[in-house]
Amino acid sequence: MAKKYNRYRSILTLKCPRCGHGDLFTKKGIFVYKNMMDMPTLCPVCDQKYEIEPGFWIGALWTSYPIVILIEFPFLMMALFSETLGPWIPLSLMFVAFYFAYPVMLRLGRSIWIHNWIRYDAELAEKLKE
Ligand SMILES: [Zn+2]
Repeated sequence: MAKKYNRYRSILTLKCPRCGHGDLFTKKGIFVYKNMMDMPTLCPVCDQKYEIEPGFWIGALWTSYPIVILIEFPFLMMALFSETLGPWIPLSLMFVAFYFAYPVMLRLGRSIWIHNWIRYDAELAEKLKE
């Protein structure tokens, strides 16, 4: 628990942006397929409300979409420009990649989004340690 708060680690480990300890999702980990979007209403540690306002998570599209583009772009380039592979192998790989990227896109996208709006509360984190 003595680890210093790190914003990027908090984003990648899907933790609450305010206290850095509560889990954002009911199920831990990035590669979760069943009930992948289940989130508690409040942070189990600091009671921060996760869905700050109605429709808050729609904004997470702004952070999820670039993740997919980053993952799929090389396959698209391969499909368009590879002379030896032809288009179907890269396009098939694109679907396989999407299968793995899907939970990353949604969960990490939400994590980045909420970390963008809620700041770390050092005083609160100090109180929680006591
Ligand atoms: Zn919290």
